[in-house]
Amino acid sequence: MTISTDLAYADRLDAQDDLGHFRDRFMIAEDELIYMDGNSLGRLPMAATELATDMIHQQWGTRLIRSWNEGWFTAPERIGAKIAHLIGAHEDEVIVAESTSINLFKLVMAALRLQSGRAHILTDDLNFPSDLYILQGVIELLDKQHQLEIMPSADGVYGPVSALQARLSEQTALLTLSHTVFKSGYLYDMAALTAAAHDAGSLVLWDLSHSVGAVPVDLHAANADLAIGCTYKYLNGGPGAPAFLYVRRDLQEKLLNPLSGWMGQRDLFDFKLDYQPAPGLRRFLTGTPPMMSLALIEPGVELLLEAGIDKLRAKSLRQSNYLIQLWQRELEPLGFTLKTPREAQQRGSHVSLGHQEGLRIDLALINDMQVLPDFRAPDNIRLGITPLYTTYRDIYQTVLRLKAIVTERLYEKYSTDAPIVT
Ligand SMILES: *Cc1c(COP(=O)(O)O)cnc(C)c1O
Repeated sequence: MTISTDLAYADRLDAQDDLGHFRDRFMIAEDELIYMDGNSLGRLPMAATELATDMIHQQWGTRLIRSWNEGWFTAPERIGAKIAHLIGAHEDEVIVAESTSINLFKLVMAALRLQSGRAHILTDDLNFPSDLYILQGVIELLDKQHQLEIMPSADGVYGPVSALQARLSEQTALLTLSHTVFKSGYLYDMAALTAAAHDAGSLVLWDLSHSVGAVPVDLHAANADLAIGCTYKYLNGGPGAPAFLYVRRDLQEKLLNPLSGWMGQRDLFDFKLDYQPAPGLRRFLTGTPPMMSLALIEPGVELLLEAGIDKLRAKSLRQSNYLIQLWQRELEPLGFTLKTPREAQQRGSHVSLGHQEGLRIDLALINDMQVLPDFRAPDNIRLGITPLYTTYRDIYQTVLRLKAIVTERLYEKYSTDAPIVT
């Protein structure tokens, strides 16, 4: 694709975009605002605003306790089944519960128990820090019987694939990685690494937080064991909406939830005094789900299913290729570096640009330029492409504004003290 750097070209690409109409299904409160952070907090689907009103007035206000039998009790499985279609799983292999971090805790504890005798947990230094903290906490809790092996990435962009493969051994209990890594957007080859881990007798747990809804995932084709993921990024589920977990069918009865609460109890309304895990995935529930935010996940997932994940991926790659070409032409000469793989098949749906003045440029972009990206230390400006509502015009304008910030030195008025949420 040869690109032209004019706005008319971006507008032509938008006019030809067969997913463009999905933008109207989201709340766009500020027309001038360019939102490049749907990979951190997805926009609000209009259908979720209607559902929220119904949840309050009808389901809670009017139906009261009866609502548990009118769709609330089964919501974790029902919404999980819809998410399953986005990640190549059977409907009974995905359930919605808790946060991603807590689901990681539950599945890692369960996996280590199944793998007793193996002492190593293998991961990389591109993984989301919360995932590493949870692994460290698990090791403490299990009296330091396990060892965390963190393979370093050579350049902070690409995953250390061969180092991970070389490190797998008969001591490896679990390999756990972010499928799409949060800083660089590097995308692991799930099937290849899962197969290598299985050859060593290890289980594999994939964190799909930055993949689900953006990248086609096929857990079955990869024969993946376990997975977790977030619903408030590309799934547009709303701030802090509960996360999901996946357990392959044949493992479900072998794994036990360490947080054994009544929602995971077999026949919970018998109120027996001894815990007995429910059959299937419900055993991975713990307490009563937060129904308001759980319910609001569903409209966003439905939009993704309606658009189709393969079409979304094709648009995401067209848009990230366009962004990378604009970067090369307009921004590379100004000291911006590309901190995301150039190879489309090794990239998720965001593009990270580095610059030695990254933080101050980011602040100018937000405060003076009506563009919302996010920032990841030390110098990553992350530009999230969410193909349901990101336009080519958004991308074009973002690049030109980044250029103006540097050529006109607009960042110089900002200090380097970062705000709390970047
Ligand atoms: C966003 C994200 C999470 C979020 O974890 P929470 O427990 O929901 O805060 C976890 N892992 C990865 C890789 C993420 O990108």
